[in-house]
Amino acid sequence: MNCPKCGSLMRWREGHGRFGPFLGCPAYPACDIIHNAFGFSDQPTRNARKRAHAAFDRLWKPSRRTRGYLYKILAIYMGLPQSKCHIEGFGIEQCERVLAFAQEYAPKEQAT
Ligand SMILES: [Zn+2]
Repeated sequence: MNCPKCGSLMRWREGHGRFGPFLGCPAYPACDIIHNAFGFSDQPTRNARKRAHAAFDRLWKPSRRTRGYLYKILAIYMGLPQSKCHIEGFGIEQCERVLAFAQEYAPKEQAT
C-alpha cells in the first residue's frame, strides 16, 4: 500500500496506536500519513478527531445520557446514517461540527 501523499510504501508500525498496529509512512515525520481501521489520515485530522472525541465524551460521561443515545443525536445533527457516524472516520470540517454540537448539547449545570 502506498502513501497517498508522498507515494512511499507504507510500513507496519507495532506502535501504541489507539487502535493497535497501523501502517505508517516511512517518510515520517516529513510525511504524517497513517492507515488504520478507519483508513488514511494525516496528523491535523487526527488532532481534530482527538479534540472532537474529548468534547463528545464530556457530553455523556458526567450525565445520565448514554453514549449510544448521543451518537444517535449526533448522526441526525451531522446528517449521516448512524452506521457512518464515527468520529474516527471524520475529516477536520466534520470534527468542527462535532465541537459545535458538543457546545449546543452541553449538559446544563444543575442549579443548587
Ligand atoms: Zn507519505
